[in-house]
This record gives sequence, C-alpha cells and structure tokens, in this order.
Amino acid sequence: MTSKLPTVKPETFAAQAGGDIDVETGAIVAPIHLATTYIRDPDNAYSKGYVYGRPDNLTVRQAEAVITRLEEGAATLVSGSGMTAATCAFLALERPAHVIAPDVMYWALKLWLREDARTHGIEVTFVDAGSLHDIAKAVRPGQTKMIWLETPANPLWTISDIAGAAKIAQDAGALLAVDSTVATPVLTQPIKHGADVVMHAATKYLNGHSDVVAGALTFARKDAYFQRAERVRRMLGGILGPFEAALLIRGMRTLHVRVAAQVKAAQRIAEHFARDPRVVQVLYPGLPSFVGHDVAARQMSGGFSGMLSIRVKAGEAAAVRTAAHVNIWKRATSLGGVESLIEHRASIEGAGSPCPTDLLRLSVGLEAVDDLIADLDQALGANS
Ligand code: PLP
Repeated sequence: MTSKLPTVKPETFAAQAGGDIDVETGAIVAPIHLATTYIRDPDNAYSKGYVYGRPDNLTVRQAEAVITRLEEGAATLVSGSGMTAATCAFLALERPAHVIAPDVMYWALKLWLREDARTHGIEVTFVDAGSLHDIAKAVRPGQTKMIWLETPANPLWTISDIAGAAKIAQDAGALLAVDSTVATPVLTQPIKHGADVVMHAATKYLNGHSDVVAGALTFARKDAYFQRAERVRRMLGGILGPFEAALLIRGMRTLHVRVAAQVKAAQRIAEHFARDPRVVQVLYPGLPSFVGHDVAARQMSGGFSGMLSIRVKAGEAAAVRTAAHVNIWKRATSLGGVESLIEHRASIEGAGSPCPTDLLRLSVGLEAVDDLIADLDQALGANS
C-alpha cells in the first residue's frame, strides 16, 4: 500500500484507512484479499513481495499501516489475538531472558508468564509497576531483556510511568514493551515516551465492535528484534485472517470519535459514583485522588480511558448481585466495544488475582451516559 496521506494527522489517516482508492474499481473501501498463494514471476522471483498467505496478505498489511500510523511507529505485525501478539513479543527475545512484568496486568498473560514462560527460557520477576523504584530494583544487569508494562492496567487501572521505565530499560540494555490496549493510541503513544514496542489487544478499542479477536505489535524500529518477531509470527502461523483484518480496518475508521465519547462518559460515571455511599472506592485514573493520576495526566492526552472499576461497600455478594440487576450494561467479559460491559472481575481471574472480590469492572460504551448512570444506580439499589 502506498498511502496518499503521508503527512496528515493519525485520525485523518484512520478515518480513511490510509486513503487509498482501489485501482480496478475506484472503490473507497478496499477489497478483501483472500488468496493464500501468489503467482511467481517467470524469472522465478516474487517481485510483488507476496509469496504465501501465512506471512503475506494485503488486507493485513493495510490494517498494519493504519496501526503503525496511529502509534507513530516503524512497523506493525497484526495477529490472531492479543495473546498471540503479547506472547510473540516475549518469544522474539533472545534467550535466556529475564523479564520484568507488573503484579497487576491482564490476567491470562500473567498466567502465561507465571506458568509457561519458563519452558521457553524466560524468567519473570513481577513488580509493582506503579513504582519506578521497584522496577529499577528488579533489573538484573546483563540478564534483563525486557520490561513489560500495561498502563492503565487491568483491572485496578494502575498507571506506570512509561518515560521513567524507558530510561531504566535503556540503562539496562533491555527493551520496553507497553500493553496500551486500554489507553489506545488516541490517548497515549508509548513510542513517543520511549517504548520500543507497543502491544494492543485489537479485539478491544481498535476494532471496537466486539466482533473481532485480534492483536497488534507496533515497533519503534524495523530492527533485529522486529525481524525475530516477524519470524515468530510466520513460523507459528499467528497472522490475522483477511476478513478479520478488514473488520479491524472498518473499526479503526471511527476509533477517535468512539474513544473521545467513551472517555468523557467514563469520567462522568467515575465522578458520579465516587459520591455514592454504596461504593467504597472508584478506581479511575481521571479522579485527582487516584494514585497515579499525575503520571497519567502527563502521559495521556484527551482523557483517562473508557475503563473504570467500582468497589461495592457491601462486599462480594452485593457486587455480584449488582451485576445481576443491570438492564443496559451487559454482564460480560472484554472491553472497548460500543456496548457497555460490567463484570465481577474476581470471578474470571480466580485464585492469585490481585483483584478485590467486591470489584466490578466497567467498560463504558456509547450509550447515553444518563442511561448508564441510572441503570447502575438502580442495580446498586438491589442490595438495600
Ligand atoms: N491485554 C489486555 C489489556 C486485555 O484486556 C486482553 C484481553 O482482554 C489481552 C491483552 C488479550 O487479548 P485477546 O483476548 O485478544 O487475546
């Protein structure tokens, strides 16, 4: 793809999915490329750069071009899920590798790091990633190959200082990777703050319609680490399918307006329930009282994400009962879609989770915010 939009703002690039017009038909929405194999030239070369569907697909490359632009990186690899992208980032490290990861992070990736990574020659130290001091203390000179952050981090929305961690990583000769799924490139571009690689569960805000499972890694440089990650994706067959890539492109066309509305609504919901006596705590980086608010204000622009959690004063049973009584919020896992979701998070994370049992995770969608507040208000009332 050779975009006609080389210098425009990321939202312009995303709204037009790069701005290319189909040469054959003039279509302003790109056709979906389904071919699994491509013709070889008579001189035995593959001059068009497409050989076989496991590494090469134009629809996938178009999705990658949009994400690269959104993150202002050098290259992107999209894959079949956020977990594929994340594990690819670790498997592309030279082994043996010591990595530093947060105590509070997406639970399934933490499980993989805790239980599976060792068999791949990766040793993990979990730290309070809200503390640069704790991150620095965990560095093993000569051994630490990567610092992994997630900010804001599921489901407590812990904020990590990307620029501070980038300095620690650089001094240690390690890479800094950021799971920026919740921040989205609309609110934070980690590469600008010194990250080497940015990961997205594109299943969430990038696609935004709860109908695609996908992941993405965006690299600050097209260097040897990028080449190894590309090889992992190619060897393990982790590429995204073309239909999903087309849906993802469709979703990203509206990313900026969706996120702007979700952030505004989340801030209002957080402020509303912070005053509710039935709620013991609202966890939202946009509240000035939130630990990490100042760092978030520095490295996020345009708001503090569409995700928040509330802790129900009457405890776990009351939290579960609240989730059972909503009508508009949907009782489901995942996040970042147009429909608002509520989840008793401890139920899915299970033993060993840092998630309090009275916590409900809220993913704010695009419904009228007054409807969302009224619905949660009446559901909390089911406990009295
Ligand atoms: N990272 C974060 C922050 C997530 O919330 C998720 C999924 O919920 C993932 C990674 C994994 O993404 P996927 O479910 O697409 O594998």
